[in-house]
Amino acid sequence: MIRITEFAGRDVAIFGLARTGLAAAKALLAGGARVHAWDDGEAARAAAEAEGVPLSDINARDWRAFAALILSPGIPLHYPRPHRVVELARAVGVPVMGDVELFARALAALPAAARPKVVGVTGTNGKSTTTALIGHILKAGGKDTRVGGNIGHAVLDLAPLHAGAVYVLELSSYQLDLVETLRCDAAVFLNLTPDHLERHGTMANYLAAKKRIFANQGAGDWAVVGVDTPDTAATCTSLVAAGARRVVPISASQAIGRGVCALNGVIYDALDGRAERTVDLTGAPALQGRHNGQNAAAAYAVARAFGLSPREIAEAMATFPGLPHRMEAAGVVAGVRFVNDSKATNADSTAQALAVYPRVRWIAGGVAKSGGIESLAPFFPKMAGAYLFGEAAPMFAETLAGAVPTQRFDDLAGAVVAAFTDARTSGEADPVVLFSPACASFDQFRDYEHRGAVFKQIVAALGEAGERAIA
Ligand code: ADP
Repeated sequence: MIRITEFAGRDVAIFGLARTGLAAAKALLAGGARVHAWDDGEAARAAAEAEGVPLSDINARDWRAFAALILSPGIPLHYPRPHRVVELARAVGVPVMGDVELFARALAALPAAARPKVVGVTGTNGKSTTTALIGHILKAGGKDTRVGGNIGHAVLDLAPLHAGAVYVLELSSYQLDLVETLRCDAAVFLNLTPDHLERHGTMANYLAAKKRIFANQGAGDWAVVGVDTPDTAATCTSLVAAGARRVVPISASQAIGRGVCALNGVIYDALDGRAERTVDLTGAPALQGRHNGQNAAAAYAVARAFGLSPREIAEAMATFPGLPHRMEAAGVVAGVRFVNDSKATNADSTAQALAVYPRVRWIAGGVAKSGGIESLAPFFPKMAGAYLFGEAAPMFAETLAGAVPTQRFDDLAGAVVAAFTDARTSGEADPVVLFSPACASFDQFRDYEHRGAVFKQIVAALGEAGERAIA
């Protein structure tokens, strides 16, 4: 745990007691603050109390006593309107910040020689993969590396600060909205496509939140920026013009002068102006697909910033295990290959997975994002069938009508069984059933992890049923 001593002896309000709120409460308590923690949900409050976090209904307190409000990233700060507690804080001038800001301030208070390094990773898609990949490469390169933030452990749950450590942090736009003083030694902004607009209101606000990852950078810091989406390409140009830090453009679709690109599964390093072929990603099973080329190019640039050689990076990429629920191999039953891509909660993510396989039986559904699946039309010819479930099924079926044989089901299990039966009897070599829902999960599941776990259970049950039939 990272102790936060900045508020020792003072009162701090914490609102939202999920992963980050709990970690902040403990870090502040350990640093001597008087913590007033609250959550509107009874279950969250009970869980906090069980972990020794003192509860206090901050709605009923005199807000002038608080030195800060620590807000969970899930709680609206600006849009559609600031949450009630944010307004309470603002009315009396109490600063509002997130757990990552507490971390940033603790770092800023250290003498330069004692300050650990920070890598921040953001973007609409690929954050977790890139964060985990950077962590994996730096660890393999012998660095004392801690990985967290929006992935795995909350940042304040990570091992204590010390010189020589590297914190690799996945940062969501919500988290970035709640930081002021974070300085990333290397900051990665992968891509930006419409998402989370219910929280940010407009693309401009969403972009503004993401760009905060580059705030406070100076000479010697690296900004690694994907140039394959228009907003990030424009960001890259404006960072170059601003001049404060070293800017490294990365791409998975075009050759890049003075940057890094991944083309047809090969990374080219042009950091010094001359492109050299450095990593062959065909040797990295968890980094297949163009989207992973973008993630790998970004991780490559960061690893170079930390002084690793192309060869060390290539070796580490080959052993990267990948993350669950992202094009994860979920088993082969009776010759049918199942792929769990439950993490794909929007059409854009699903497009990446569809691009990898020549022919698929596609399982999708849940709660559709705005825009639906019209953008997936270029992939319709590779779909041997679409198996739809959940709230989005009727809408998706309409988009697919006439282009793809489509069946609808009440739940995921029905869809999996039908896709399996069709794949098994298709006579195709290596048939693939891809579960890449292009939807949020909350109509039928707790979250994408739960949804992916259920998918894998269904696949495992098919396998067991097959074994029983053979026995
Ligand atoms: P995030 O943490 O940003 O949600 P993940 O690494 O968990 O991203 O990947 C989520 C999904 O997004 C993956 O299943 C994949 O389909 C897709 N994806 C991964 N990387 C990229 C990328 N660089 N560009 C577009 N889509 C991506």
